Formats: sequence, structure tokens, C-alpha cells
Amino acid sequence: MILEVEHIICKYGGVVAVDDASFSVAKGAITALIGPNGAGKTTALNIISGMTAATEGRVRFAGSDIIGLRADQICRLGIARTFQTPQSFGSMTVKDNVFVGTTPLGTAGIIGVALRLPRVRREEARFRSEADTCLDLVGIRTLADEQLGTLPFGTLRLAELARALASRPKLLLMDEPASGLSRVETQNLRQVLLRIRETGTTILLVEHNMSLVMSTAEHIYVLNKGQLIARGTPCEIQADVLVQKAYLGTAAHA
Ligand code: ATP
Repeated sequence: MILEVEHIICKYGGVVAVDDASFSVAKGAITALIGPNGAGKTTALNIISGMTAATEGRVRFAGSDIIGLRADQICRLGIARTFQTPQSFGSMTVKDNVFVGTTPLGTAGIIGVALRLPRVRREEARFRSEADTCLDLVGIRTLADEQLGTLPFGTLRLAELARALASRPKLLLMDEPASGLSRVETQNLRQVLLRIRETGTTILLVEHNMSLVMSTAEHIYVLNKGQLIARGTPCEIQADVLVQKAYLGTAAHA
């Protein structure tokens, strides 16, 4: 297992957003974390990525305890994430935005960058080429020189994904990547996720779109009101009565 989440609890005042949840993610696989609105999925991703402190519990990544580390430290260890709402800068070009994503890999230091040392220039050239590879992977290299602010929402999501990939993560956390996408864009996203998995990157996917989840994830965990209520293969989850009950009357999109 590349990620082991053990008995995490996260309280916001009187609200228990995550309530003693444990789950693990197998290396090289796509694992999904699903559940109705307010189940605690984003909070779980925030804890893993160091953006929110857990009240209790442990998170082990590649064998090391990462609870208590800052988000930038966790990113350097090899965990990247995308957000429900893409976090991008409108005036930046697509390729510069992806280049920014390579920052955690940099070894140059502020003096090296200021002096434009040859080693720093070589590193920059390598990172630019890696940024191109990431744009290829998500299928938007032809848009490399476009400004982010001019892109349609679906393309913006792919640009954000390319930026996350540019830090060469071992584990990619994705928070509702299909939210706001059309059916065609979601089908394209499915292919992109499968391509990313082929490169060896592990994915933990939080998603409401059940057809995307069921057609990509090998293993699924279900959260409801902060608690883990089911785990299993897509077939097992689809047949689970507790899961059906949790989703009854909520928006689990087909
Ligand atoms: P959705 O599918 O709607 O995005 P989710 O499963 O990701 O939901 P969370 O966003 O993790 O759920 O929220 C879990 C619970 O914690 C909800 O009741 C939410 O209102 C609450 N919560 C989340 N963040 C905070 C916060 N910063 N302060 C207070 N309560 C919060």
C-alpha cells in the first residue's frame, strides 16, 4: 500500500467531518472515495495533503508518517492534488502554469536562479520538457500558449491536472475532477485517468459521477456522515444495500 489512513477523526467545532475513518490505497491503482454531499471526502483529501489538521489518527505515505507535515513538505514527498474548483492564474499561459507545477522538484536555490548558473538553465530546460510531457498526457499540448483565462472550464480542469502531474507525484489526489464537465469531456477525462495510471502514478479519486468511478477504480471506499460504511470492488459497491440507502435521495450522477 502506498497510502494508509488510520482512524482519522476531524472535528470542526461540533461538526465531526471525518469520524474514525481508515482506508488504504494500493500502489499503481485508481482507488475511489465516494459518498453523499457532506460525507467528509474533501476533508479526508485535505488531511492527506496537509491542508487540514486531523484531530486524531495517522496517515502513512510510502512507509512514512506524514501527519503534522506541512502541505509543501507532503508535496515534495510525492503527493499532488487537484481541487473541486480549479486553482489557476488567469493571465498565465497554459505551459507556464504547468511549469510552475515543477517547482517542488527544483534544486537550484534562490542564488543559483538569480545568477542563471548553467546547472540552473539545464534544470529549467528539463522541467520545460517535462511540462510538455504532462500537457501531452492530458491532451492539451496544442493549447500551451493560450492564456488560462481564455480557456473553457473543461480545458482549465485539464490544465490544472497537468500542473499537478508536473511535480511528478507518486500519488495524485483528485477532488471531483468531473464536476462541471459535459458527458463528452467526462469520457475524455476517463481516458486521461487511465493514461495517468499507465505511467505508474497512483490515483485517489473523490467523485460523484458514478459511471466514471465504476469504469476506472479498482477499489472503492464509501463515506457517509464521516464514517466508512463500505469498501470493495465496483460490483460489490453497486450491490451494497447500505450504500444504496446512503445515496437514496442524493445526487449520485449516473
Ligand atoms: P461534497 O461532496 O459536497 O463536496 P464532502 O464529502 O467533500 O462533500 P466535506 O466538504 O469534507 O464533505 O464536509 C464534511 C462536513 O464537514 C460537512 O458537514 C461540512 O459542512 C463540514 N465542513 C467542511 N469544512 C468545514 C470547515 N472548514 N468548517 C466547518 N465545517 C466544515
